[in-house]
Order: sequence, then structure tokens, then C-alpha cells
Amino acid sequence: MQDVDFDIGIIGGGPAGSTAASYLAKAGLSCAVFEAERFPRPHVGESLVPATTPVLSEIGALAKVDEAGFPRKYGAAWTSAVEDSVPTNGFQGLTYGFQQATIDFSERDQQGVQQDYTYHVDRGKFDELLLRHCEELGAKVFEGVRIRSVDFGAGNPVLTYREGDTDIPVRVRMVVDASGRDTRLGKQLKLKVPDPVFNQYAIHTWFEDLDRNAVAVSEGQADYIFIHFLPINDTWMWQIPITDRITSVGVVTQKQRFQNAGEKREEFFWECVGSRPGLENALRSCSRVRPFKVEGDYSYGMKEICGDDWVLIGDAARFVDPIFSSGVSVAMNSARIACADIVAAAEAGDFSKKRFDTYSQKLRRGVSHWYEFISIYYRLNILFTAFVADPRYRLDVLQMLQGDVYEEREPAALTKMREITREVEANPDHLWHKHLGTLRAPSAAPQF
Ligand SMILES: Cc1cc2nc3c(=O)[nH]c(=O)nc-3n(C[C@H](O)[C@H](O)[C@H](O)COP(=O)(O)OP(=O)(O)OC[C@H]3O[C@@H](n4cnc5c(N)ncnc54)[C@H](O)[C@@H]3O)c2cc1C
Repeated sequence: MQDVDFDIGIIGGGPAGSTAASYLAKAGLSCAVFEAERFPRPHVGESLVPATTPVLSEIGALAKVDEAGFPRKYGAAWTSAVEDSVPTNGFQGLTYGFQQATIDFSERDQQGVQQDYTYHVDRGKFDELLLRHCEELGAKVFEGVRIRSVDFGAGNPVLTYREGDTDIPVRVRMVVDASGRDTRLGKQLKLKVPDPVFNQYAIHTWFEDLDRNAVAVSEGQADYIFIHFLPINDTWMWQIPITDRITSVGVVTQKQRFQNAGEKREEFFWECVGSRPGLENALRSCSRVRPFKVEGDYSYGMKEICGDDWVLIGDAARFVDPIFSSGVSVAMNSARIACADIVAAAEAGDFSKKRFDTYSQKLRRGVSHWYEFISIYYRLNILFTAFVADPRYRLDVLQMLQGDVYEEREPAALTKMREITREVEANPDHLWHKHLGTLRAPSAAPQF
């Protein structure tokens, strides 16, 4: 009798889980994905960054994604309501004052990427495509199956799910937790640490026939992702093309502000959007085609992201604020990096914690680069705009925005941004001091 049902048991079939299953199946390991929902199912997180492309290519799914007709994303733009009298403080190239920053992916070559665009995706379709892909590669996929617990007692780990009144055990050599913000193992093993800096909430929906040109500087940008910073502390709105006619729109704000709105979620959404009348007018003149959905309490880290016989990947390992669309890229790259260790561990027949050290270090490094970059954006919004505009720093910022954050060397833009932020924080007479936001980072960045 076989001692295990599968080599690897994966909890969750989102981008992290299906990417891991693809790598492992390609390497000849037997693996099973247990997904609580039946796909397609809606999901937040619809705009990708180019660092997903090499992963899609390696697992053999890039052509399928390209042919699926998702809108191509050639760049990104950030707008703000800042008055254009902000002193430039020696920065060059601020053509639109501080009101808009725009980047095009074509400006910087990226290793493993042969196209100058990534995608905006309807996650229902995208996640299903990836799940079917790993199945084609040989992974076994169970849909509508929620893992309730994992027993790491004696011997091999046992995943348990319920069918009717019966608990069904599945014995595996190791467990990959890709359960997203459900954080199945993080909860069970009591690893989860709430983020001390970011405590954001989001409310989002889809609109039909939004005039995307209403906010673009040039027509060529209409299909970019737009992040609109609102003149309310730490509050912003996303605008993501989903199809020719459908646009996803969401407002992200501090939890406290959201709680004060009580049950009046929809009014709260319009109140926030109303702080930028141009945006409100464009949205009021089109129709909403999905109910409003709320996402809360989503920033956290984990004390450990691997242990004997388990690793955490994607949102199950860490969640940072989504302002730079980093989530799916981190999900897929964490799967890529973890699977290199898992395949080596399987060959050695040893799934002990030390086998996943490389993964742990690389992922922590990459995500902490994202984290600090995002923190600085909130802390000194105009600095980001200045860096994007200035030819001396532009490509270094683009490196981060493309998602190239996993190298050992800290991205140059980050080092410089940190220095300037500290200068501005320390000097109350600095021309930019009054533009500091309330979220205190990066000095408060958690060490996980
Ligand atoms: C407001 C907001 C905006 C965002 N915007 C972006 C964006 O523009 N771009 C971007 O890249 N990212 C964005 N993200 C982040 C993005 O949504 C996530 O990072 C990404 O979905 C993570 O993928 P994952 O596979 O780790 O988890 P998920 O995509 O959440 O997949 C996890 C899967 O596990 C399943 N599951 C959970 N528990 C169990 C269980 N016990 N048993 C079996 N199955 C289980 C779930 O049903 C789910 O299908 C945003 C997030 C938020 C909150």
C-alpha cells in the first residue's frame, strides 16, 4: 500500500496554488490542488505587473493568457489632486506639475520578458484558465473542497476536508498553503501578525461604459491602470479596464474612516469619489454592473513562512497594500521560488524547514522591497511623482513597478527615496514637510 496519496497537497487554487501545481507537475511530482470554490468565481486583484510574464512563460501558460483576449496593459498612471504650486525641490521633468505620473513598460528591458505589456484580467476567467492549465500538466484538482485542518502529528502530514458528514483524510509528503487571505495554515499554526502600519479597507465594483479618456492625459493611456489619489488622507481609487466596456473601480481607505460610515457603504463610496468631481461625473454617467464588495483587514505578515513539511505562498504568506498591483505577481513568483526548493527537497527525500531557506529569504526580501516602496508612496506621495518624472531616477522606479524586486541588491530608487523621506521627516522647514502623509513608515516597517 502506498504511504501517501500525493507528494504535495496544495490548499487553494488561486494564482499561487495553480502556478505551484504547474511547476510541480512539470517536475514530475504528484500533486493535488484543493480549492474551496467552484471556478469561475469572482476575485479582487485584476491588474498585473510584467514580472508575472516570465512565470506564465515558464509554466507554458503565456500563449493561453495572451489568446484569452484580456486587455493589454502597456503602462500605469497615478493622478492626484495636489495643487501644482508644490516646490519641485530640484527634481526635473515634472511636466504635469505633481498631478500625474505615468510609466510605460516599453521603457525598460526586463529579463525573461519579450513583450511591452502585461494584462488586466477578469479574475474569474484568469484563475480558471490557470487552474485548468495545471490540471492539463497532470495536477489533480478538487473543486468545492475546503481543507479544514492539517495534521502534522506523527509521520506524513494529513489534510482533512469534509464530504457530507464524513471527514476525508488525504496523506501527503508536504503541504503548500496557497489559501490566500484565508491563511489556512497561518491561522492554525498561530503565525499571523497584523500589519502595524497599514490598516486599510476597500470597496469595489464594475461599471459599464465609463469614459476612460475622461481622466487620461492622452488617448493612448485610456487602457492603463489609473490610481487616483483622493484629497482625503491615505485614500485612493483604482480604475482597471476589464473588457472594452467594463471598468473595475475601487476605493481604498483607512479602516477607521470606513467603520465610521457604518452600513452606508454605497454612500461612502460616492462621498470619497466626490472629492474628485471630474471622476465622480464620469462615474455617475455610466451604469454599475456588479454589487459593491468590501475587502477588509487585509495587511499582515507571518512569523514564519516555512517549516518542516510546509511552506506558505502568495497571500497565505503575506499581504501588503495593493496600490502598485503587486499581489498576483508576488503570488506567482512566490510559487516559482518555493517550487525550486520543493523539487530539490523531493529529490533529497527531505522536506525539513532548512530545505526552504532560499525561498524564505528571497520572498521576504522581495516583499519587503515592495512594502517599503508602498510605505514611502503613502508617506510622501509627491516624492513618487517626482521620481517617476525625473530622468535620473525614472528607470529605477520602473524596475520596481515592473515587479523586479527579488534580487539581493536593493533597488537603487528605494535607497534614494528612503534618504529623502528621512530628510523631509527630520526637517520641519523642508519645502515638502507639510506634504507628509499620516502613515508612519518605513521606519515602522515590520520585520517579517
Ligand atoms: C483591495 C484589493 C485590491 C487588489 N488589487 C490588486 C491588483 O490590482 N493587482 C494584483 O496583482 N493584486 C491585487 N490584489 C491582491 C490579489 O488579490 C492577491 O494578491 C492575489 O489574489 C493572491 O493570489 P493567491 O493565489 O495567493 O490567493 P487567492 O487569489 O485569494 O486564492 C486563494 C484560493 O484559495 C481558496 N481557499 C481558501 N481557503 C481554502 C481552504 N481552506 N481550502 C481550499 N481552498 C481554499 C480560495 O477559495 C481561493 O480561490 C488586491 C487585493 C485587494 C484586497
